[in-house]
Amino acid sequence: MKIFKFGGASVKDAAGVRNLAQILQAYQGQPLVVVVSAMGKTTNALEDVAAAYYQGNPAEAMTRWQTVRAYHKGIMRDLAGDDITQTFQIVLESFDKIKTYLLRPVEGSFDQVYDLIVSLGELISTQIIAAYLRKLKMPVKWTDARLLIRTDGTFREGKVDWEETEWLIQDYSKSIPPQTITITQGFMGRSADGNTTTLGREGSDYSAAIFAYCLNADDVTIWKDVPGVLNADPKWFDDTQLIPELTYQDAIELAYYGATVIHPKTIKPLQNKKIKLYVRSFLEPAAPGTVVGEFNNHLPVPSFIFKINQTLISLHPKDFSFIAEDNLSRIFSRFAEAGVKINLMQHTAISFSVAVDNHPEKIPALIDQLREDFRVSYNGGLELITIRYYNQETIDRVCVNKKVLLEQKSRYTVQLIVKDLG
Ligand code: ASP
Ligand code: MG
Repeated sequence: MKIFKFGGASVKDAAGVRNLAQILQAYQGQPLVVVVSAMGKTTNALEDVAAAYYQGNPAEAMTRWQTVRAYHKGIMRDLAGDDITQTFQIVLESFDKIKTYLLRPVEGSFDQVYDLIVSLGELISTQIIAAYLRKLKMPVKWTDARLLIRTDGTFREGKVDWEETEWLIQDYSKSIPPQTITITQGFMGRSADGNTTTLGREGSDYSAAIFAYCLNADDVTIWKDVPGVLNADPKWFDDTQLIPELTYQDAIELAYYGATVIHPKTIKPLQNKKIKLYVRSFLEPAAPGTVVGEFNNHLPVPSFIFKINQTLISLHPKDFSFIAEDNLSRIFSRFAEAGVKINLMQHTAISFSVAVDNHPEKIPALIDQLREDFRVSYNGGLELITIRYYNQETIDRVCVNKKVLLEQKSRYTVQLIVKDLG
């Protein structure tokens, strides 16, 4: 069994869907589970639909939804020509249901509404793709991932119930004939009480890993618009290098520090079962890409990860206490309650500094809370640079025209909070 994952960029237009079909055709004859994201930037667009709907602005929600609908209709028309009603009947029915939903009064919390609306992107993309593959006479089965991935009730960040999910997925796999290509959605699941949940933005890679783990798959392939895992984002560096082999450990570290090529939660389930992960280009499907697995060697080259939009928050106790266990536990619980993830931290006897993503809806409120116990200073508009397998030369390279506000080194990794002076 192989698991494939296709992200939004790979199916952003009809050419992308045709290309996906061509890749699958090359693997026909073996069982495949294909996890697909929403097409192009649909998730962002649906976030706007959800916001307008929840804010009690159904007209605006409907207008935004119609843009999403028109985009998908364009793709279907390109794929099916005049045959759109026949080929994509099921998608058109889904569109009608969504319209009806948006005309109803809001029920539930924003996060609940968000998951219901945003997950439509995946449902629609997989319905379109399955219908198109069926038209090509491929042995596909469209499957609702909510029947297979069980989560707790946390909307927008559902925690997987592994035991139940494993049972559901294995049971499903017994029911499908060999050689079937299962087409299912990334990023979504269902709670025990029947609500649609999502696994957090960009969570489709994680879905692929969940399927792989539960099916004891041979391997997982994430098809991307880059040739594999590179040692830096080409957005920032022009002389990037492809990493042909990557250990699970390095892959986890890189993803955790913010390399967006793989979702950080993806690796661990695969590592636990020693399932290989390939990252390959859907534009060059014959190229080998990167393989993540159990290797003895480190990364062959230093890797660079840049995270922009960072805020550095520094705390100093108002009384004469030190930054010790009691203060630390108070600080950490404030961050946890505010749902703010710490990207980097450092402390001295009387000060504690953390770098966080600048969420305008969370950070000011958190700072107000922290001010009850601490003197707080903060500095926005910063960058967090991580170099794995650094040396002085690589540090000098990234610090040109930057002021370093904080530096932290461990054996293999250096992290720098910098301000751009350019
Ligand atoms: N469509 C979702 C998102 O854009 C999930 C994913 O692409 O992995 O966040
Ligand atoms: Mg996406």
